[in-house]
Amino acid sequence: MVSFEEARSIILDSVRPVDTERIHLLETAGRVLAEDLAAPWDMPLWDNSAMDGYAVRSTDCREIPCKLNVTGFLPAGAKADGIRVEAGCAVRIMTGAPVPFGCDAVVPVEETDDGQLEVTLLEPVIKGQHFRFRAEDVAAGVIFVRSGTVIRPPEINMLAGFGIALLPVYRRPVVAILSTGDELVELGRTPGPGEIINSNTLSLAAAVQEAGCISRIIGIARDNRESHLLKLGEGLKADVLITSAGVSAGDCDMVRDILEELGAKQKFWKVGIKPGGPTAFAMYGSTPVFSLPGNPVSTMITFEEFVRPALLRMQGHQQLLRPLFKAVLRDPLKKKTGKVQIVRVRLEKEGGTWFASSAGNQQTAILKTMVDAQAIALLPAESGGFAAGEEIDVHYYGNHIELE
Ligand code: AMP
Ligand code: MG
Repeated sequence: MVSFEEARSIILDSVRPVDTERIHLLETAGRVLAEDLAAPWDMPLWDNSAMDGYAVRSTDCREIPCKLNVTGFLPAGAKADGIRVEAGCAVRIMTGAPVPFGCDAVVPVEETDDGQLEVTLLEPVIKGQHFRFRAEDVAAGVIFVRSGTVIRPPEINMLAGFGIALLPVYRRPVVAILSTGDELVELGRTPGPGEIINSNTLSLAAAVQEAGCISRIIGIARDNRESHLLKLGEGLKADVLITSAGVSAGDCDMVRDILEELGAKQKFWKVGIKPGGPTAFAMYGSTPVFSLPGNPVSTMITFEEFVRPALLRMQGHQQLLRPLFKAVLRDPLKKKTGKVQIVRVRLEKEGGTWFASSAGNQQTAILKTMVDAQAIALLPAESGGFAAGEEIDVHYYGNHIELE
């Protein structure tokens, strides 16, 4: 048995970012940039006006109020070529228009009488005011987004501003999902005696997609050698394989043996975590293979704690784990020493402090408390339990949180 921390580091040391692809900017939200990018030109490309108003020479405006002749008009999109602000004159200018030669300040229309042929300035003028200077945002050649950046609307805005239409990002890994067991029927069929619906596949597919990957559903391997050989073999063609069930010590649990027969090298089996203990991890060449326990709660928790960080690393992410924060326990939590215990909790904020309480029955076969949980508490292996009022480490579970 490996510890929770050992399991995580074995997994994260085994996986590498996949290859990259160039895709259109419109498709890049949430993807991870695979190269440093330098500004192809100055941003902005020319000095321009930050306000609707008048381009002036500050030396003409020492006495306030001051009257100037309006000798030109520059709307956004106009060229400033050949336009010049002479002594005693002003050019009417709109936000974003290039500032004309000769001027060194822009006076907002609100600080004038809004005159058309002549304008009276009503407020003192400071050299350089309301100018946006060439390259003041980013100068040509400066790296403005680094490899590893998660692309969000602000990055997209700046990339588009630089005319970059195709972006090098890490590819979305294809993740094969395979359930095992003779008791399973697919969604759409009414389960007969002894049968249950293969719900893990759907939940795993959702979690895989939420983590940014492409899910490939392989179906169900029945509890016999031939079916396992066929389905596991199919799953090993993907970038990642996740199986559920058949990984404990039961008579029909053959996932690990058949993976080994197919050439996968087991890195660990059994982790000091509750629930989720029988988890196994293997590598098939560069393909990580996660064999998760079949109880839906264990499947989801081991995905969250072990598979999700690996999928993020494969996509080039640098932030792999959800941030932990402290919450004060409302009620005591019993536990034995020796294993990390995962507890489904609900959170409440009071006077700036988060309080956690158990979401209810914590047995692995109880799904409702997983649905009700807003966060996951990680109780350390060495702890022998927590009293009410003690602080524990929690992290959000998905987006399922009501914030104040
Ligand atoms: P096993 O590891 O095969 O003994 O399965 C452990 C438990 O998980 C059993 O109660 C199974 O019925 C349940 N289970 C296994 N596979 C799935 C699945 N795909 N969807 C929902 N429950 C499952
Ligand atoms: Mg089974």
